[in-house]
Amino acid sequence: MTASVIGDLLRHRVRLSPETEAVVAESKRLTYREYNAAVNRLARYLLQTQVQKGDRIAVLCKNSHHLPIIYLAAAKIGAVTVAVNWRLKTDELRYILEDCTPKALFFDGEFDQVTPLLGTLPFLQQEIRVSTKENPTALDDLIAEFPATEPEVDVREEDPALIIYTSGTTGRPKGVVCTHANIFAGGIANTTTLDLRLRDRFLFVTPLFHISGMMFIIGALIRGFTLVLSNQFHPLKIWDILRAEQVTGMMSVPSMLSYMYQAVKEQEVDVPSLRMILCGGSLVPQELIRGMYELGYQVVQVYGATEYTGAITYWMPEMGLETCGSVGQAVYLTELKIVDPTTGAALPPGEIGEVICRGPLVFAGYWNQKEATEEVIQKGWYHTRDVGWMDENGLLYVVDRLRDMIITSGEKVFPAQVESVITQLEEVSEAAVVGVKDPVWGELSRAYVVLQEGAAVTEEEIITHVRQHLADHNLHEVTFVEELPKNSMGKVMKYVLRQYANEGGVKQSM
Ligand code: ATP
Repeated sequence: MTASVIGDLLRHRVRLSPETEAVVAESKRLTYREYNAAVNRLARYLLQTQVQKGDRIAVLCKNSHHLPIIYLAAAKIGAVTVAVNWRLKTDELRYILEDCTPKALFFDGEFDQVTPLLGTLPFLQQEIRVSTKENPTALDDLIAEFPATEPEVDVREEDPALIIYTSGTTGRPKGVVCTHANIFAGGIANTTTLDLRLRDRFLFVTPLFHISGMMFIIGALIRGFTLVLSNQFHPLKIWDILRAEQVTGMMSVPSMLSYMYQAVKEQEVDVPSLRMILCGGSLVPQELIRGMYELGYQVVQVYGATEYTGAITYWMPEMGLETCGSVGQAVYLTELKIVDPTTGAALPPGEIGEVICRGPLVFAGYWNQKEATEEVIQKGWYHTRDVGWMDENGLLYVVDRLRDMIITSGEKVFPAQVESVITQLEEVSEAAVVGVKDPVWGELSRAYVVLQEGAAVTEEEIITHVRQHLADHNLHEVTFVEELPKNSMGKVMKYVLRQYANEGGVKQSM
């Protein structure tokens, strides 16, 4: 056995801190000793039901002790967890399951979208409800009689451990395969860069099925901290959980952080244990980072990708608040470069190009998609398809996604820059800028704008405002909408907007 497979990380953690709390979820509290016992019981169950090394196990679970137990049990026997987004609809689920053909499906009974699939997928040999309304801990009962002894399976670091499907902001999701070695390296890189420690208590309200959640399950084993899990996000009540559980760190996304900021501004809440609030998935507004800092809370911005097994960079307040527009420095074990997207030549500090990164966290490839893999992994470098630049000190500034870049009459427009100028207007709640095909200009830059409730501003006023800050070619048109199409991470699905824009429809509500 090597020391860098997931099962061993848990085994060694139990030896070091058996009585430390490993997982605190709404219906359950488990020490590392109890956690490992449950993992072993499930591993034994899987082996008995003929799940073998290399088999996939799909999991659709809300944040509870079940998901980490299934993930670690699968890892101990060399099976591959497919962490599935439970917000997906039946057809999306069917697509993913047919793509990765799992032998077993573990799911929370409340997910009605699973029902039409049951009994219809020939490769599925087991469909297991891990919780039901009547019995929220059904999985615990299922495995109770199985021995808690370590399963003996030869798992290697190059074996796949996890598949997560991309969120589909570009189209059909692809299965990102991470090996045990990727996950081990990711666990070390994240916990070292963030200085997570024994007995830290880290809250996840964001779904665990994203790479950040799956990484922190491993980070906890490496450093011996506690995962506090919840499914309820309420901007005020979350402060009660933070205080009651003496949480030291948590994960968030920009919209969640913005609600928390509003709440904490209005009500004085003090959680002295809280050392850091991680925020990422898309660019975190600078005002939010500064505002939280003034109230005594340290926001750490994370820039990451599933294909890099999680975080690529972290920005922390100690890097200087004046740099908070940056996403920070590469995580431990990671090299970062900016290159010309057409020639691949490295670019000097200050020049905008494609962000690429290299290290043991580069994923193994897309499931059954060799060509797509070769497009993004070249000579060991993961090509993020994000556009950015680096300053002299190695701080990265992400400008936009390469594919979102608009070229109008030969000039480049970076939608994220235009969006941040538009949202400076207090009448504007959100904006998303996309390219619309045009026979003369190639593309025109159109902003889809959501106004604050009751606010009024005209297309002309917005264009004038933008042109006071950016060159004229950055914005040509504005369409007002009631909301923007978003995926489960709250990210705007620009391909949907582009479709609307290029099919000529002006949809007022999406
Ligand atoms: P798909 O490939 O289907 O579009 P996705 O790219 O959203 O899915 P993820 O791995 O969840 O898949 O997201 C990675 C991308 O999210 C990054 O490449 C980057 O574009 C964006 N991103 C993540 N964090 C940040 C951040 N802090 N600032 C700016 N962009 C970010």
